[in-house]
Amino acid sequence: MVDDGAPPPPADDHPLRVAVVGAGPAGIYAADALTRQSEVPVAVDLVDRLPTPFGLVRHGIAPDHPKMRAIRDTLHRSLDHPLVRFVGNVEVGTELALDDLRAHVDAVVYTYGAALDRHLGIEGEDLPGSLAATDLVAWYTGHPDADRATVEAALSGVRRAVVIGVGNVALDVGRILARTAEELEPTDMPQHVIDVLAAAPVEEVTVLGRRGPAQATFTTQELRELGELAAGTVLVDPGDLELDDETEARAAADRNATRNLAVLRDWSAHEPEPGRTRLRLRFYSRPVRLLGTDRVTGVEVERTAVDGDGRAIGTGEFEVLPADLVVRSVGYLGTPLPGLPVDQRTGTVTHDGVGRVLRDGAPSAGEYAAGWIKRGPTGVVGHNKHDARETVAALLADAADGTLRVRGPVDDLVRTLQARGAEPVLLDDWRAIDAAEQALGASRGRARTTLHERESLLAAVREAAARGR
Ligand SMILES: Cc1cc2nc3c(=O)[nH]c(=O)nc-3n(C[C@H](O)[C@H](O)[C@H](O)COP(=O)(O)OP(=O)(O)OC[C@H]3O[C@@H](n4cnc5c(N)ncnc54)[C@H](O)[C@@H]3O)c2cc1C
Repeated sequence: MVDDGAPPPPADDHPLRVAVVGAGPAGIYAADALTRQSEVPVAVDLVDRLPTPFGLVRHGIAPDHPKMRAIRDTLHRSLDHPLVRFVGNVEVGTELALDDLRAHVDAVVYTYGAALDRHLGIEGEDLPGSLAATDLVAWYTGHPDADRATVEAALSGVRRAVVIGVGNVALDVGRILARTAEELEPTDMPQHVIDVLAAAPVEEVTVLGRRGPAQATFTTQELRELGELAAGTVLVDPGDLELDDETEARAAADRNATRNLAVLRDWSAHEPEPGRTRLRLRFYSRPVRLLGTDRVTGVEVERTAVDGDGRAIGTGEFEVLPADLVVRSVGYLGTPLPGLPVDQRTGTVTHDGVGRVLRDGAPSAGEYAAGWIKRGPTGVVGHNKHDARETVAALLADAADGTLRVRGPVDDLVRTLQARGAEPVLLDDWRAIDAAEQALGASRGRARTTLHERESLLAAVREAAARGR
């Protein structure tokens, strides 16, 4: 090979150093795709702002879905790979500037998710008692940044809750609010979460959809589960299920809509039962404003009709639904990381379609994106696998054609962070947290109890280090 003065291509003794920002499913699948191939030697640093890996698998998927949450066991296998280094407790963009990170590696894959909630943009939305699903989910899954005081104040004394939105997250929230203490008991929720939920005297949860049942995006599996609650009765207004011929024909062509309608029609004969929580699924209802002065007291809704394009059109008929808790579940949004181009409308990183980050319209050497921050906040865990593979294929193609090269020697990221007084959490440290959560769970007869404070997570690491592990 002619020596053109350029750095050499990656080799076993000088692998391509890749930082993956975000150890959620997309980041872990990206690390997996990078280390599963043998064409380009790599070394991966999987950086997360939390001391724990798994992103929304830990802090999104509902704790009463243990089988779903068990995906973490599969994801863990990729963390164990010798070429992958988990570097938790390091926030990129604040604690570690993007340029600084990039100076330590040859390429960066952004997989930091989409954690902001969308707003309804209606009056009263900021009243106490009005929460974003992101707030409630963060709290019930024990996210260290959850705003305990606000959420617990909103939940205190709740009898009637309204959940705005008809996606799977809205159903998660409705279901968790309607669960009994006995149903919550075996979960990995922190103890204070179980106690607060068990103490809330919830009598009714209304899940509100702007459009009709044929347009709801929840999946039938999640929907059916509402019918299996120990002390809940699902109620659906039969009038909401009378569809015109065109809507009926369109729904018949959509498997999910057909199954949802069948389940909802089964339930439409239900009557409220004394002593059981009423779980109402209410369609064609657009929230117009939240009522109340020092706390939410109700939601004013406008009855809608759905037009030929599937849009909700107001009918001018208004009604007030009494509520002392309102949870909006109308979608997530990506946050811009300082120094990274993000499309403000979609909340996604600007990229070329397969994951190469674009700056000023051109691919930026050594920058890639995958997961929710690449394609927006939709899709289940498995969707991120294909997505991450697509991004990694672009990265490997760039390495193969020389667009992406190993730069000269650079300082090791972890050593730099430690020298600055940061406390990066590595794989063994995470194992100590994992063991501490299992021990805490075992002390209460559960498989695990989530440690919900950053300090207790780090204390588990320090204690294990002090014991010499
Ligand atoms: C409430 C909820 C419930 C869900 N339930 C299910 C379900 O039951 N089944 C299912 O298959 N899918 C479910 N999903 C979808 C699934 O969680 C997503 O598809 C998946 O988590 C997206 O992966 P991601 O890696 O792109 O993002 P995330 O999972 O959000 O991971 C992003 C990671 O980046 C980290 N991060 C963020 N900012 C920074 C930063 N500045 N520096 C360093 N790290 C950072 C975060 O801490 C996080 O670990 C659910 C989603 C939500 C919101």
